[in-house]
Amino acid sequence: VGEGTVTVIAGPCAVESPEQLMLTARAMRARGASMLRGGAFKPRTSPYSFRGLEEEGLKLLAEARAETGLPIVTEVMSEATVQLVAKYADVLQIGTRNAQNFFLLEEVALAGKPILLKRGMSSSIQEWLLAAEYILAKGNSNVIMCERGIRTFETAARNTMDINAIPLIKELSHLPVVADPSHGTGKRKLVEPVSLGMVAAGADGLILEVHPDPEHALSDGAQSLTFDIFSSVMENVAKVAAAVGKKMERSAVTA
Ligand code: PEP
Ligand code: MN
Repeated sequence: VGEGTVTVIAGPCAVESPEQLMLTARAMRARGASMLRGGAFKPRTSPYSFRGLEEEGLKLLAEARAETGLPIVTEVMSEATVQLVAKYADVLQIGTRNAQNFFLLEEVALAGKPILLKRGMSSSIQEWLLAAEYILAKGNSNVIMCERGIRTFETAARNTMDINAIPLIKELSHLPVVADPSHGTGKRKLVEPVSLGMVAAGADGLILEVHPDPEHALSDGAQSLTFDIFSSVMENVAKVAAAVGKKMERSAVTA
């Protein structure tokens, strides 16, 4: 992830089953994604919602990587599970709810893997950069910033995507920044246009939720793309990337 390229990370919100994950991983590989996402530990608003397959989910992600070659991006929620998640993942994601969990940020920094740091849903740019600083200060310079929308008075979409964040992070730091229009909008129909806008504004990549059967997804179905819509997003993102002088990244991970 970085200068001159647009990297697309795609996959389901949550790893649900071997079939769901493998089908998605193969489709993402075939359609040009360069990394696979999927949550095994899911932070859910309600404790009664599906909270992920945990280590079983991590093993499935590792199998999907073995078959497709796609590096894995997955969330780590607690200090106690950093080592476990790091054993399977290529990139460790810190979610919006943990974006200012400072002891977790320090612990995850020490795992020796690149970190995808989501913006806290109420974090200012300054607070988000200082969260990244917790990781950098522990000697891990592989931090990818991820704008995933913030809470505002607006309720027509799940969150408000802050397009300003992209050029601001570029100006205020040397870190790569990707956009997550899935969580940023919460609505499948908004994901493509917002993806194009974020790439036009200078995003180094996108992280997109995709599901073989979004209507029956165990989490975030309303914002998950079908494989066909994902193909359309890839095609049009490539045009915007070309317009801003960038190439689509279609291979392995470097943070
Ligand atoms: C996710 O990526 O599925 C997720 C939970 O994201 P966020 O932390 O941005 O809500
Ligand atoms: Mn999700």
